[in-house]
Amino acid sequence: MIRPAPAIEAIPATTPFIGPEQLMRDSGLSELVRLGANESAFGPSPKAVEAMAAALPHLWWYGDPESYELREALAAKHDCAIEQIVVGSGIDDLMGLAVRAFVPPGGRAVTTAGSYPTFNYHVTGYGGALSFAPYREDGTVDLDALVEIARRERPQVLYLANPDNPSGSFAARARMQAFYEALPHDTLLFLDEAYGDFVDAGDVLPPHLEDRLVRTRTFSKAYGMAGARIGYAIASERNVRTFQKIRLHYGVNRNAQVGALASLADPAFHASVVRETAAAREAYYALGAELGLPTLPSLTNFVLFDCGSVARANLVMAELLKRGVWIRKPAVAPLDRYVRVSAGTAPMRAAFSQALRDVLAQVPV
Ligand SMILES: *Cc1c(COP(=O)(O)O)cnc(C)c1O
Repeated sequence: MIRPAPAIEAIPATTPFIGPEQLMRDSGLSELVRLGANESAFGPSPKAVEAMAAALPHLWWYGDPESYELREALAAKHDCAIEQIVVGSGIDDLMGLAVRAFVPPGGRAVTTAGSYPTFNYHVTGYGGALSFAPYREDGTVDLDALVEIARRERPQVLYLANPDNPSGSFAARARMQAFYEALPHDTLLFLDEAYGDFVDAGDVLPPHLEDRLVRTRTFSKAYGMAGARIGYAIASERNVRTFQKIRLHYGVNRNAQVGALASLADPAFHASVVRETAAAREAYYALGAELGLPTLPSLTNFVLFDCGSVARANLVMAELLKRGVWIRKPAVAPLDRYVRVSAGTAPMRAAFSQALRDVLAQVPV
């Protein structure tokens, strides 16, 4: 009899995420204000679009399997060696490589309950087990609890997003340094810096090119290229060699390589996105204060609005969708009474604000 491997068969069939396209098919809406996936509403750099458009006729070529020019530019940006960079088709892909490489079947990983879930799907898929630390009551990541669990359970990998999704919270340099030192030295820290571009470079953990640290960055957020699927890890040479052994040789889209390289050459555009995103957060804080929906401070491209209860948060999300505005919400307490809204352009924010006012006025909550 043909059967999947036991670890795979044991996984329930779930849809981790219902995409906006499905929501549109289900609801019959022909347009959505996309504020649900922390995509960058400010788009990619026009220079990246130009470079990708010019490269399109070469789509019959595979991309450079070494992503050499891109890694060269990334090594210069991060002041490391090209041997310390590996490119993948987004951080989601690199998470899979890290779990496959470091968590053996029956192994363990630790993360925050309700944080970015893709890492967890990889752990389950490769036959590992997960332990969770809850968020603190104030919605921040509980670094002390993560250390405590790691010391007790000696996981092969600990996953931390900093800044975090969905909380938006951030542990600055000194706190992260102490956290990193406190972890057991046989636990690898997978430090997901998907939102690292929105934080001053001097505030993130200093570079440690040690075997027990893998940090990841993406072109999906501040660079506005989520659909291109490209991201990278900064890691020790040994870890990069390990990833190189198991990654898909041609797994990175050729046009994504072209666009990523051109994006790096347009720092002015990147800076403008970071500025616009900060302005969008400020606008959301003000809106929340005005409407009686307290917000959490965020160092990302999204803001959480406190709806007071899980039921009210679900209702607000559903009613906004009826009005053509797509947002999402965290699933796990204590953040499950919040809705999460991505930074939008001024017109998108106006549409959200109008729909939200309408919902709060009309919906009995
Ligand atoms: C958006 C996001 C990712 C996804 O990154 P890709 O490079 O698009 O795969 C990873 N981690 C966190 C915390 C995110 O919010």
